[in-house]
Amino acid sequence: MRDADDAAWWRSLAGSGLLLVVAAIAGWLAGRPWAFVAMAALALAGWQLWSLWRVLQRLSARSHAPVGHGRGGWQRLQRLLHRGQQEARVRNRKLVALLRAYRAAADALPDAVVVVEPSHQRIVWFNQAATRLLGLVAPADIDAALGERLPGLSIAHWLASGRHAEPIADIASPMSPQLRLSLRLVPYSDELWLLVARDVSKLVRLEGMRRDFVANVSHELRTPLTVVHGYLEMLDPAELPAWAPMLAEMQRQSQRMTQLVDDLLTLSRLESQDTIADDSVAMQPMLAALRNEAHALSQGRHDIIVEDAAPLDLLGSQQQLHSAFSNLVSNAVRYTPGGGSIRIGFEAGADGGAVLWVRDSGRGIAAEHLPRLTERFYRVSTSRSRESGGTGLGLAIVKHVLQLHQADLAIESQPGSGSRFACRFPPERVQHREPGSN
Ligand code: ADP
Repeated sequence: MRDADDAAWWRSLAGSGLLLVVAAIAGWLAGRPWAFVAMAALALAGWQLWSLWRVLQRLSARSHAPVGHGRGGWQRLQRLLHRGQQEARVRNRKLVALLRAYRAAADALPDAVVVVEPSHQRIVWFNQAATRLLGLVAPADIDAALGERLPGLSIAHWLASGRHAEPIADIASPMSPQLRLSLRLVPYSDELWLLVARDVSKLVRLEGMRRDFVANVSHELRTPLTVVHGYLEMLDPAELPAWAPMLAEMQRQSQRMTQLVDDLLTLSRLESQDTIADDSVAMQPMLAALRNEAHALSQGRHDIIVEDAAPLDLLGSQQQLHSAFSNLVSNAVRYTPGGGSIRIGFEAGADGGAVLWVRDSGRGIAAEHLPRLTERFYRVSTSRSRESGGTGLGLAIVKHVLQLHQADLAIESQPGSGSRFACRFPPERVQHREPGSN
């Protein structure tokens, strides 16, 4: 390439030089050499300007016409420019085709995808599903503020939390309350974020059906169970000594079934609840009640200590919090062999919240079980849980109660040396204990 450029340049130089030499010879023969040379130089300059004009014309007209066959520098320049233009055109065509393919793919997605500019939460682009699911209309909504365009969703605050925005599992679409959406914010760069909305109506409906089914079955089982349990209670083993072991087992099993149905009903009630009362829950009497329950369950087999280290109370549902805490206390007693110790404590949290913890010196739990403990019916050892009267639903109830109180459950455990279950409440669920309250 360099050689061809060099050759073309030398050819132009040689051509110009030759013209000047010929003009000088002709001028010398005619007796006016300088006038001839000046005229030749003028002609050369004119030709150069004309060639420059032609190049500019070609560039501004974006001409597709092929360049002539000349071999001089100008011709070479025109050919190079022509080739550059052709290559850029092919590249552009490819890019446009790629962009169209991406847009077609994004439009074919069943999920709504909205590209958002984060600083002003402006809509940059959205696909067709965003019209169906979120009601955005092109081009009117391009450049509009997303939070303002979707006022029904009240997501401006959520959007503002950017990278820390937790996905929203279920929210009604602005198009219809029956259309349920899950929202996820993907801040894939500093300049652009992606809002993805998925239609989860079917899932939510199925989840509702499952919840109703469990609640209805539990409810229906309750009456026959109460009747069976009642009759069993009326049978006196002393009158039927041969049946005594069987009666005791039947009573134990019917007690277990009643507990199971009660726990299932509690769970389905918790699941169908979105919000919770903001009642002041006095912790002093709560801790005293937990201590009594622990003593009653332990029957003197454990060393039980309660530490009330924070002049704080909680805000929430007294009955639900009591049910969660007493589940933890009951587990500690049931999974700690006699002679062990159980400590219940309430203290201020590092973030301004509060922590209620229950620690035992019992069997402990291996690390691989910890993440699954709050699943329904998940047990480390099914036989041990049944023996101790467990339903496998206790920690699921604890998790739901805490979720409703914006709190979480932290579990630390070492097999062989005991466990610590901590309910961590955020500052907005905590209030200073009123003087004189007990
Ligand atoms: P369960 O009714 O079986 O006790 P939970 O949901 O309360 O059901 O607990 C789930 C499982 O977690 C239990 O089966 C048991 O294996 C384990 N677990 C719970 N608490 C403790 C504890 N304090 N020490 C050891 N294991 C525990």
